[in-house]
Amino acid sequence: MSELVTDREVDRSKMKVSEEVAVQITRMNKWYGAFHVLRDIDLTVHKGERIVIAGPSGSGKSTLIRCINRLEEHQAGQIVVDGIELTNDLKNIDKVRSEVGMVFQHFNLFPHLTILENCTLAPIWVRKTPRREAVETAMHFLEKVKIPEQAHKYPGQLSGGQQQRVAIARSLCMKPRIMLFDEPTSALDPEMIKEVLDTMIALAEEGMTMLCVTHEMGFARQVANRVIFMDQGQIVEQNEPEEFFNNPQSDRTKLFLSQIL
Ligand code: ADP
Ligand code: MG
Repeated sequence: MSELVTDREVDRSKMKVSEEVAVQITRMNKWYGAFHVLRDIDLTVHKGERIVIAGPSGSGKSTLIRCINRLEEHQAGQIVVDGIELTNDLKNIDKVRSEVGMVFQHFNLFPHLTILENCTLAPIWVRKTPRREAVETAMHFLEKVKIPEQAHKYPGQLSGGQQQRVAIARSLCMKPRIMLFDEPTSALDPEMIKEVLDTMIALAEEGMTMLCVTHEMGFARQVANRVIFMDQGQIVEQNEPEEFFNNPQSDRTKLFLSQIL
């Protein structure tokens, strides 16, 4: 497990946490059929927070963040995203999806569309952005993730790290207020992990509210303001990174850290 993720200076002074609430989860429970996958989740995320969610495989990390943009439904309790309560009301779901960007382990780019088309598709068809403006925005974010020269290529012509940076740019084109990352570097070769983490650090420095499921504990130390540890569908422990790593409280957290660090 890599420790230091970047040789780049990380400017934490730019990462300000506001009083404003971005996500409020209250006594949320979820089942897959009879299987109780998330248990009494309480979580308040303030604007500007960078939260790393850690925990063993199968502990419910992906399910939790997928509930935040309603890729999964919860059955009890409440999730409020940027003031919008997640219910079955479709209008709400559309609104939330456009405010919450998501980046997956497998980049999920459309293989038959160019990089530029991947980035303009949703803004044009979902947000009804005029094509010219959508292209301008897409180029802006492709520059930000440092691959504007790849705009006219297809995903299959890019490396994994480049594809993941496109996936991040594509999300940003929707101008999300919150970004969710689900193991964005887990499918990448080691030499490409850094370029994706650098992109995420830049985003954090711009004040983006981020929830990241990741095993990159170096990233957690350098960027997160809070680390949440999940096990068996529950939030077992959470703390600022320094305390979380140096002074874990529960035995489950201690065991987990001893296995990954
Ligand atoms: P993590 O991301 O922490 O590895 P997940 O949220 O993917 O965990 O999964 C939590 C648990 O829920 C696991 O036991 C997994 O097998 C189960 N699970 C995940 N998705 C589904 C699904 N669609 N249907 C039934 N069980 C699922
Ligand atoms: Mg997962």
